[in-house]
Amino acid sequence: MAPSLAIIVKLSVYCNELQLMSLMTNTPISIYLHIPFCTTKCTYCAFNTYTHLETLIPAFVEALIREIQIVADGAEIRLPAHSVFFGGGTPTLLTPAQLGQILDTLHQRFEITSDAEITTEANPNDLNLSYLQGLRAAGFNRLSIGMQSANAQELKLFARRHDYATVTEIMPLVRQAEFKNVNLDLIYGAPYQSLATWHDTLTRTLELAPEHISLYALGLEENTPLKEWVETGRVPTPDDDLAADMYELATELLGVGGYQQYEISNWSQPGQASRHNLQYWRNWPYLGLGPGAHGYANGVRYATLLSPQRYIKALQTPLERHYPFPSTPATVDEVQVDRANEIAETLIMGLRLTVEGIDRAAFQQRFGVDLVDLHHEVITKYQTHGLLEVSDSCVRITQQGRMLSNLIFRDLV
Ligand code: SF4
Repeated sequence: MAPSLAIIVKLSVYCNELQLMSLMTNTPISIYLHIPFCTTKCTYCAFNTYTHLETLIPAFVEALIREIQIVADGAEIRLPAHSVFFGGGTPTLLTPAQLGQILDTLHQRFEITSDAEITTEANPNDLNLSYLQGLRAAGFNRLSIGMQSANAQELKLFARRHDYATVTEIMPLVRQAEFKNVNLDLIYGAPYQSLATWHDTLTRTLELAPEHISLYALGLEENTPLKEWVETGRVPTPDDDLAADMYELATELLGVGGYQQYEISNWSQPGQASRHNLQYWRNWPYLGLGPGAHGYANGVRYATLLSPQRYIKALQTPLERHYPFPSTPATVDEVQVDRANEIAETLIMGLRLTVEGIDRAAFQQRFGVDLVDLHHEVITKYQTHGLLEVSDSCVRITQQGRMLSNLIFRDLV
C-alpha cells in the first residue's frame, strides 16, 4: 500500500531524504518484536534471551506497548505495516491475551494491512488447542515452530524441551485452530548428526506438510555450552563438508517434495514465501522492538537495550523530550546508513533471494543507477563462471553460485 501524495507532502516536513525514498518506493514497513524469555537455554543459543525472568513479563508487556506508542508518535502518521513477527526468546511464554494486547496496540498505532502476515515463533511444548485458538483470536495467522530435528539424540544435545512426538501431536491441533501457514525450523551441521539422521528429519518434516521450512546451519557461538564442549573435546567438531552435503540433500529432497527455495536458507510451498523474511532480504525498512531487537528505518540501523530490566526501566521513565522516528528511550547504537552502504547491503541481501534476485528496475528507481552498469566487471566475471544469472529484469545467484555466495558478496562490496 503506497502512501498518498498528500501524506508524502506532509511527511516531507518531518522526514529525511532516505525515509521519503523508502516510503515512495511503495514499501510498507515490517515490525519485529523480541520476547526475551525462555524456560531453559538451548546449548547452541546465543540469542538475547533469559531464563528465570518470567516474573518480569507483565512489566515487559507494558514496556513493549509503551515502546510501540513512542515509536509511532515519532513517525507522526500511521505508517502502513504488512508483516508483524514475534520472535525471541519464546513468545509463547506470554498468554494469548498478553500477545493480543501488544497486537491491539500495533493496530491502534500503525496501519496494519488487511492481508498482513502476523507470525509468532512457538515452542512445541507451549502449544495446546486452547492456546492455539487464543492466538488465532488475537489475530495471528502464521506460526513458526522450533522443531529443529526429528532425532531424539540431537534434540537432547541441543537441550530442547520437546521431542519429535510433541511436534507430530500438535500439528493436527495447529490445523484444527485454522493456522494455514506454518513454518518449521530445522538445524543441520550439528555434532553427531549424520546424513542418515538428517535425511530422516527432512522426510519426517515433509510428512508434516508445513507451508514453509527454514534451515539453520549450526554455528558454534561464543559463550555457549556447545562451543565449549567442542573446544574441550567433549563432543566432536562439526564437519563443514558434511554440512555442505546436508544442504545439498535438503535442496534435493525439499525440491522433490514440492517446495520452492526462494532464499538461501528458506523453502516454501508455492505462494507461501514469508513476507517478513522478504522484507529483510529486499533491504526494506523494519522496526525492531523489545530488548536486543535490531531495526532499519528512516535510513538508520539501530538496536535496543539488551537487558530486559534496563529496557523496562527506560520505558517506565517519563519522557523528557520528543523521540524522532524510529528512536525511543530504549534505542542504542544508531547508525545512519549512507548511500554506498545501502547499496552494498541491498546487493548482499538481494542475492540471497534465489528466485527473484535483485530487481534491476527497483534498484534503478531506488539508487538512480543500473546495477549491471555499477558492478559490470564483477557481475560479468561471475556470469561467465556460471555463478550469476543476468536478465533484463534481474540479477540472481545460480544453484552453483549458492555454495560460493560469500566469495561473490565479498567481491561486490
Ligand atoms: S528456545 Fe530459542 S531462543 Fe530460547 S534458548 Fe532455545 S534457541 Fe534460544
